[in-house]
Amino acid sequence: MNTQMLIGSSLESGTETDEIIFNPKTNESIIQIPEASLSQLNRAVEAASASFSSWSRTSPAQRSNYLLKIADQIESQTAEFAALEALNCGKPINAVIADEIPGTVDCFRFFAGAVRCMQASAANEYLEGFTSMVRRDPIGVIASIAPWNYPLMMAAWKLAPAIAGGNTVVFKPSELTPLSTLKLAKILADVLPEGVVNIVLGRGDSIGNALINHPLVDMISITGDIATGKKVLQAASTSVKRTHLELGGKAPVIVFDDADLDAVVEGIRTFGYYNAGQDCTAACRIYGGSKIYDKLVSELTSAVATIQYANDDDTTNEIGPLISKHQRDRVASFVDRASEVKHMEITTGGEQHESAGYFYKPTVIAGALQSDEIVRREVFGPVVSVTRFSEVDEAINWANDSGYGLASSVWTKDISRAMSCTARLRYGCIWVNTHFMLTNEMPHGGIKQSGYGKDMSMYALEDYTTVRHVMIAH
Ligand code: NAD
Repeated sequence: MNTQMLIGSSLESGTETDEIIFNPKTNESIIQIPEASLSQLNRAVEAASASFSSWSRTSPAQRSNYLLKIADQIESQTAEFAALEALNCGKPINAVIADEIPGTVDCFRFFAGAVRCMQASAANEYLEGFTSMVRRDPIGVIASIAPWNYPLMMAAWKLAPAIAGGNTVVFKPSELTPLSTLKLAKILADVLPEGVVNIVLGRGDSIGNALINHPLVDMISITGDIATGKKVLQAASTSVKRTHLELGGKAPVIVFDDADLDAVVEGIRTFGYYNAGQDCTAACRIYGGSKIYDKLVSELTSAVATIQYANDDDTTNEIGPLISKHQRDRVASFVDRASEVKHMEITTGGEQHESAGYFYKPTVIAGALQSDEIVRREVFGPVVSVTRFSEVDEAINWANDSGYGLASSVWTKDISRAMSCTARLRYGCIWVNTHFMLTNEMPHGGIKQSGYGKDMSMYALEDYTTVRHVMIAH
């Protein structure tokens, strides 16, 4: 298991810390993880800065070939990557093999193609005697910081568009989940020229903070908590760095009376609890029409009670544990507070699992009101609340009544009502009769306090490049 960071062209050990990676399924320690020293961090940023001049002048076709090589290497080591991700995060290995590794590989392949197809407005004579044209160029050194919920895939979402666009990167994985990124470091060291991607380890308040404040960093890209996003903005303001923020979510799911209830129940069972609900787009805040509300609660409760987890035979598990004891206790505290409120009922789950791992039972909380904490705050665990609504406007207003603005869904057979809802919901993504589905061709990102900037799609390439005007007198 590699614990060495990538600085310039070499894999280097960091300073020993007391940071231990635990297996979330068993609470057993896996490995002690070092942290970058400040001088290693400086060298990583300097390496990225030094390589920018040559990397930014490679052709899109050359960069595309590098990305394709990275994709091929990850794909050929699917089993090893999946094993590390499952070990570090407690995810069912089949889910990693089926979803996350192909998503990661496809992300590198998508940006390998996309960078060769970038478009801009036509050159023209907008002033007589002068020809104007637009260039799209890289930004410089990107500080990239990732969360713990999909470690390898988040690395791909951040690295692929950044290096495809001609930038160089210093990437910091979450201190909780560095293992798959450290394996990726070896591939990047083999495939890429020196300094194009550097990988440093460390906690947020030490190495993360030093990285985002580094004067040679031109742009900060972070996926994480709103509080962390605010710290990034403060750091960026001192030296006017660009920022790209993918922050939390609390996705509303509006279920109208005419919806296909079987599909709704199956959808929430899958998309509310995938990755144990540790997903910023999780279908966690349900608004049910008054006519179907009781049936929805009853059928959802029965369906959620069948979710498979914590089985010794991992091939039968649908979800894993929470990432840490801290996260499991945080989830439990939300449910415990909800259980003390008279009008709410925990219809299934509502407690931690008896095993040593950080499992929490998939939970449904019915009777929640718009003002309840469980409706308003991001839990980031396998917990779904259900709220009854009577009018379309009420559902839309409640759905929009949130500081978050990442993802939402509407379930109805009435296409005009669906279209009207998609126009009115203030979310970066609105699904109709589904939820959670992402594809590398389409943008992913929020509005409001969920942040700004897009991952995936041509829009991510735009975010990691800058438009410049060139005018030629003749
Ligand atoms: P977090 O904000 O605690 O940590 C995210 C990363 O930021 C980690 O690598 C951490 O070390 C680093 N960090 C923390 N403090 C820092 C600081 N002061 N300076 C620099 N870096 C710092 O978030 P988390 O607990 O890892 O992840 C969960 C959060 O991420 C949730 O709120 C979730 O909704 C959000 N998330 C959002 C998306 C999205 O696409 N919008 C995707 C995944 C997760």
